[in-house]
Amino acid sequence: MNLVLMGLPGAGKGTQAEKIVAKYDIPHISTGDMFRAAIKEETDLGLKAKSFMDKGELVPDEVTIGIVKERLSKDDCKKGFLLDGFPRTVPQAEALEQLLNDLEKGLDYVIHIEVDKSVLMERLTGRRICKDCGATYHLVFNPPAKEGVCDRCGGELYQRADDNAETVQNRLEVNMKQMQPLLDFYQEKGYLRNINGQQDIQVVFQEIEKLVGDLRA
Ligand code: AMP
Repeated sequence: MNLVLMGLPGAGKGTQAEKIVAKYDIPHISTGDMFRAAIKEETDLGLKAKSFMDKGELVPDEVTIGIVKERLSKDDCKKGFLLDGFPRTVPQAEALEQLLNDLEKGLDYVIHIEVDKSVLMERLTGRRICKDCGATYHLVFNPPAKEGVCDRCGGELYQRADDNAETVQNRLEVNMKQMQPLLDFYQEKGYLRNINGQQDIQVVFQEIEKLVGDLRA
């Protein structure tokens, strides 16, 4: 089960990714999470990525492709993987194709969670994340039982630095411009599957289950 999850920031990728990897027991490969971890650990990669992320810009392709290549080569990806936040550019998509070829793998589906742009601003600025386990919540659409506290582990919830209104605007613009050529790329290759992301979280997940269920048959 080799999947790519796509959608603009705030489309619900993180929430659906958690559900997919839990149900199908495949590694969740999020380039954004990998960069944030590297920044926290103050590695060379973290230093490189931080200057771009702070401005709401994409990290250069060569850096991003390098970390994905290393990650996909690990043993736990033999049973499949879920890529989240990668590819973000056509060169990254082409590199992924080559890389999977070299590893004698192929993609099954590119799942695109579609949400109107007007809804995304509201969603993004309300997003909160657990600083301990990384679970995602939303102040309006998916609030925790107790304000500011993670339901799952009791950790403190925080607003990601790049979820503030100013940076969100820039992130959306960068992402919208980048995503369309990728949708075209995968549509042409027959991998693209569109899912309506403006439904209840459970309903979105059921549609994904229906789609990927046939890979196990
Ligand atoms: P995300 O958590 O996916 O929203 O990613 C947060 C930030 O990490 C992005 O705004 C980029 O600066 C960087 N990033 C994540 N994935 C990629 C990628 N595939 N290519 C370039 N930059 C990325």
